[in-house]
Amino acid sequence: MSFARIAIIGVGLIGSSIARAVGASGMNAEVRLYDASPDVRARAQTLNIGLVCATAEEAVCDADLVILATPVGAMAAATAGLVDALADGAVLTDVGSTKRAVVDALAKITPARAYFIAGHPIAGTEQSGPDAGFASLFENRWTILTPQDDARPRYQEALSRLSAFWTALGARVEIMDADRHDLVLAITSHVPHLIAFNIVATAEDLETVTESEIVKYSAGGFRDFTRLAASDPVMWRDVFLANKDAVLEILGRFTEDLAALQRAIRWGDGDALHGIFERARRVRREVIEAGQDTPAPNWGRDQGGDGKS
Ligand code: NAP
Repeated sequence: MSFARIAIIGVGLIGSSIARAVGASGMNAEVRLYDASPDVRARAQTLNIGLVCATAEEAVCDADLVILATPVGAMAAATAGLVDALADGAVLTDVGSTKRAVVDALAKITPARAYFIAGHPIAGTEQSGPDAGFASLFENRWTILTPQDDARPRYQEALSRLSAFWTALGARVEIMDADRHDLVLAITSHVPHLIAFNIVATAEDLETVTESEIVKYSAGGFRDFTRLAASDPVMWRDVFLANKDAVLEILGRFTEDLAALQRAIRWGDGDALHGIFERARRVRREVIEAGQDTPAPNWGRDQGGDGKS
């Protein structure tokens, strides 16, 4: 059931974390790596997390699992460059943060001899590149798989093997429809990042408060937005281009709710404000109870305040 040779295309935070996690899991699998960037390939060579290949074809030939870990906007081009080298029966998957656009683009070009099952590990940090990865990234985090409606009997077997792979990396696996995934992630990840990008940009543009004051007093809450806003610009540009409809839908709801808060502040409606804040606090408790964050004060940051979490 398990995979013997795993090819990872794109050796950044997620790709290199998968390579490290495969090594740490004790899985008896050979890992082959390819990245479009010569600098990343050179760096990956020194990390000893897999065999670095000069081409994508070299990485995927004979691989029974191929994982695309490039930005979402590069997935179709990356796949087009390797489909001819895919082995018979290979499972092709990805880790992209949006699913409908990736599924529509890749399902069309996956050859009939392979099994394409899109995926998304809900795990990450604001860092990028091969040095940012770590083996425990997926532990106790969800990985969502969005399989196709594929009647081939071996497709279900491929799905079971891919689920078992993520479980072996410490993840919990959920199967979901691609559109549903995009809507859920729009509210839990994409719009929160958009708000962070926006509030940081607004602060930077403010003429009445100086940048040094913003930085100096950032512990008041602003710095927590700066962590999200430090995320990779290419990755996030692609997420918003690929998940336009769901993001706009959630953004519409968000704007209405923000207007309600604005009204409550304008009219001094303390009860309305208290009610909304009380509900929000309850959600935070649920996140902690579900093991998706630490209950430690200040999110477990070092008391020295070095900003790491
Ligand atoms: P990353 O650290 O920037 O790594 C992506 C790597 O892919 C880069 O080294 C990039 O090289 C390379 N690449 C670009 N086009 C390529 C191609 N055609 N062929 C081979 N390599 C190519 O990004 P990441 O954070 O690991 O994200 C990778 C994917 O995981 C994205 O689809 C993202 O949506 C998803 N994801 C990210 C997170 C997160 O928190 N970061 C969480 C879950 C899922 P260049 O830099 O030279 O372009």
